Amino acid sequence: MISRAITIAAVLLASCAAGCFHANAATPAAGGAAAPRHVADYARVFLVCDAPPMNTRLAIRSMALKGERTLLLVDPETLKTYLEPAKSWRCADDSDESESATRFLRAIDTPPPAPKPGAISKPYLRNAGVTHGAGDGSFITGDLCPSSKPLDRPFIEALERVGPGTPISLSISGLWLKHHADDFQWLQEQARAGGVDITWVNHSFSHPYFPGRPFEENFLLAPGVDMEAEILDTEKALIDSGGTPSVFFRFPGLISNPALMDILRRDHLIALGADGWLVFAPPLRPGAIVLVHPNGNEPQGLRIFAKMMASDRLPRPFRAIDDAPGGAKPPLDPPSAIR
Ligand SMILES: [Zn+2]
Repeated sequence: MISRAITIAAVLLASCAAGCFHANAATPAAGGAAAPRHVADYARVFLVCDAPPMNTRLAIRSMALKGERTLLLVDPETLKTYLEPAKSWRCADDSDESESATRFLRAIDTPPPAPKPGAISKPYLRNAGVTHGAGDGSFITGDLCPSSKPLDRPFIEALERVGPGTPISLSISGLWLKHHADDFQWLQEQARAGGVDITWVNHSFSHPYFPGRPFEENFLLAPGVDMEAEILDTEKALIDSGGTPSVFFRFPGLISNPALMDILRRDHLIALGADGWLVFAPPLRPGAIVLVHPNGNEPQGLRIFAKMMASDRLPRPFRAIDDAPGGAKPPLDPPSAIR
């Protein structure tokens, strides 16, 4: 029997070998971009805001959008995010302590994975954060690591055939967005037309990856990486292109460390892990967070995804990632984890 630990390691290696190998590949920026929204003065904030009769929301970013002061607001219970003019809200400084009972802060404070008994401690964390979702169904997540290949549009179209507004979380890297403006706008059009309901997850801007380097010096743990810039530059690029960032961040390679987790926490983002990578075809239990790469670099995984969809082996319904925090951690070595 293969242990879950080996599975996750394989997920990490294979997900980047297949999905992220083209990190930093330079391709010409495609045409077709919507008019930029001109984001300026982008800053991290933490405010509690009210606008009767609406519920209280928390502001985590402030910016000038086309010259108008704008807030990135979070509903602290549903985790949905909104970009709204600051003038519509009455806000005051807030603290984590004041919001500690909210679902939002509890999700940010998802405890790190428990070490296996007798395991040697490592200088990095893998698959930290929310790794399994609450309740039934599954959470489909697609990573858009930098790639020289076009978006796998048939994957999105297959989800659209499941039903209107099928939820999909797309972890977007800044470099993918920079070089795939046409694909990004196509995705936005699919969402506007009601075919899919996209949640944009931050996947860092440059998504560093160095084949062969140990994890503790790779991905965002590579020397010289500016984690704060990786977070905020991706959000700015997404907003500039017409998207709204969610409260989720997926670490490239699912590799982090406590220092990076502290920065994520300070920026009020929730680390998003995964149950497994489909290429190993694990049996998925309800609440599974499924990881695929629709960035053109993982055709094998998407073929497996299509087969599993066709044979009804993906837990239904597909659900929005906002619903995921609160699910129990998967056991370390479930006997049936791997076929
Ligand atoms: Zn990636």
